[in-house]
Amino acid sequence: MGEAHYATATTTFSGDFYPCQIANQNYRELPKPDVQIITSGGLRIPAHSSVLASVSSVLENIIDRPLKHRSSERIIPILGVPCDAVASFIRFIYSSRCDEEELEKYGIHLLALSHVYLVPNLKQRCAKAVGQHLTIENVVDVLQLARLCDAPDLYLKCMKLVNGHFKAVQKTEGWKFVQNHDPWLELEILQFIDEAELRKKKSRRHREEQSLYMELSVAMDCLEHICTEGCTSVGPYDMQPTKKRGPCSKFSTCQGIQLLIKHFATCKNRVNGGCSRCKRMWQLLRLHSSICDQLESCKVPLCRQFKLKMQQEKKGDDPLWRLLVKKVASARVMSSLKLLKRKREEQPREMVQDHGLRTFRL
Ligand SMILES: [Zn+2]
Ligand SMILES: [Zn+2]
Ligand SMILES: [Zn+2]
Repeated sequence: MGEAHYATATTTFSGDFYPCQIANQNYRELPKPDVQIITSGGLRIPAHSSVLASVSSVLENIIDRPLKHRSSERIIPILGVPCDAVASFIRFIYSSRCDEEELEKYGIHLLALSHVYLVPNLKQRCAKAVGQHLTIENVVDVLQLARLCDAPDLYLKCMKLVNGHFKAVQKTEGWKFVQNHDPWLELEILQFIDEAELRKKKSRRHREEQSLYMELSVAMDCLEHICTEGCTSVGPYDMQPTKKRGPCSKFSTCQGIQLLIKHFATCKNRVNGGCSRCKRMWQLLRLHSSICDQLESCKVPLCRQFKLKMQQEKKGDDPLWRLLVKKVASARVMSSLKLLKRKREEQPREMVQDHGLRTFRL
């Protein structure tokens, strides 16, 4: 049986196997093959030691080993993977080519071969292709392979998939195998899931914090706007609030601040009396003063007083407060940058609307 197989196989691969696949001009006129590759299925692939050695240093080492008998033919066994995967591997060595179909069919085998025989460009392509065909069913197997073959991108991709669908993955054969035979990998997976959960919590907290700083930054804008131009019911001390003025663009926040200012102006308890609303207003005024860069011209109440007080107490400045000021100030910069960007993006469109396509500029 083996004989017959060998014979068919040899005829399959001795004919047009090389010339039609070879991209490199140097291989055009090759001498007779001087090496035989043997696969698990008994397939024999004739090859050229010089070509194999030029692409894979591992194969080069094997080829350079002295032969037991001078006359014997050099044979390289590549076992443990399907015959066709070995054929694709050798074809890649000759041509640097590997089509999508081969990658889809033998991606994991080619990944293993390219790792073992040190063919990095094939390894990279295989890792990418295998990553594109990940499923819940095969992800744990591929994860093991990625770990063995030292393919970090593929490893991470598998981990992310396992993390995202852990319940379904737990039902697969791959997971059961890992639980029974590879406790270290099981631990790695569980650790990754744990850390991913932590990362998620951390970024949620970060987002919440950012939105708080954003709110404070909007509150600062409103406070300045109320104290300089005035809004619906509160305006600067030297200007009557104009009844005609409609709600501003940030009215949901602005209205609350106006109510707070009105309360602050009339409250009997005040800050020292423990009134929480007055305390809030006081903090807003203090925050304004901390980020305000107008010296004499600022119309926000207590701005100058707070600035003077801060200068006197510079050394004892509260680090937490300074951090808050910094974060609000940067949130403000961010929001004004976003506004600028939006305006820029809208500008060309406006031009088109106003003057037609002729004035459109990039
Ligand atoms: Zn307003
Ligand atoms: Zn009050
Ligand atoms: Zn100010």
